[in-house]
Amino acid sequence: MNNSHHRTCGCIIQDQILMEMVEGYRERRIEVEQACRIIESDLGGTARGAFVTVTIPVVVHVVYNAAVENISDEQIASQIRILNEDFSATNPDISDVPNFFKSLIGKSSIQFKLAKRAPDGSSTNGITRTQTTRSSFPPDEFLATGFIEPVKFDSSGGKDAWPSDKYLNMWVCNLRGGLLGYAQFPGGPAETDGVVMDYQYFGDIGTATPPFDKGRTATHEVGHYLNLRHIWGDDQNSADPCSGSDLVNDTPNQEYPSGGIPTHPRRSCGSPDMFMNYMDYTDDAGMFMFSKGQVVRMQAALEGPRASLTTSDGLTAPCG
Ligand SMILES: [Zn+2]
Repeated sequence: MNNSHHRTCGCIIQDQILMEMVEGYRERRIEVEQACRIIESDLGGTARGAFVTVTIPVVVHVVYNAAVENISDEQIASQIRILNEDFSATNPDISDVPNFFKSLIGKSSIQFKLAKRAPDGSSTNGITRTQTTRSSFPPDEFLATGFIEPVKFDSSGGKDAWPSDKYLNMWVCNLRGGLLGYAQFPGGPAETDGVVMDYQYFGDIGTATPPFDKGRTATHEVGHYLNLRHIWGDDQNSADPCSGSDLVNDTPNQEYPSGGIPTHPRRSCGSPDMFMNYMDYTDDAGMFMFSKGQVVRMQAALEGPRASLTTSDGLTAPCG
């Protein structure tokens, strides 16, 4: 596989490193999973209930070295619009879902808005801009640095997170190693919580670069942030690549991550693959749905480990 043309997401690597480096993380993840399972079953499994719309306050931290990496407000707005479309199944290409999977389309009530109130109570447009001397950011040096993700800290040439119980932090920077982005699952350290995206794979204008120029990297990473796993179950290196699961009932078992844009129907593990799902590695133009089961799983994350986001004051503009 050619990394320059293949989606690569670093969240499983990050998850494994947190398991090794952060005391109590493994146990926290198990607790989060168990809590979410209980909420999911209360929500009726894959039968989606009537959810109240939840709007998550977002802060985008643009950390740039070269001027081109300092993406525009308009490009950021395009990404927020895409997230809102994709999570509500109002994306223009939702009609491309094959008939075989149409009944499984998940429409969430999860929406996103740039923050209006900063942590200190001042007014904000939900965007921070930090010039850095680092030419790129190295998730591949996680282990060597004792798990410091430099983009997430002022002290290492990045930008400190806003309180992650109130805001979804999105860092946009020049990521090294062909990585499009990565996310932290619920249950991880507060100071590194959020999603990271390369500046070339954010929004659909400006620096957005084919074949990942339709904002789907952020949709995928925010899916992880809300506890979704990869649709093929991350078992591609195991003896039986049909053995793993994404812990969602209505997504078919799938053998390997997809690349490019496959043609439906493509089968593995005994059933047609839902390679048009945001949690696969398909090109941006070829992914356009969450499943109902995935929506319930994300909803459970928002009623469980990420519930504090729903009572955040980050979207309340300060008076005066
Ligand atoms: Zn991923």
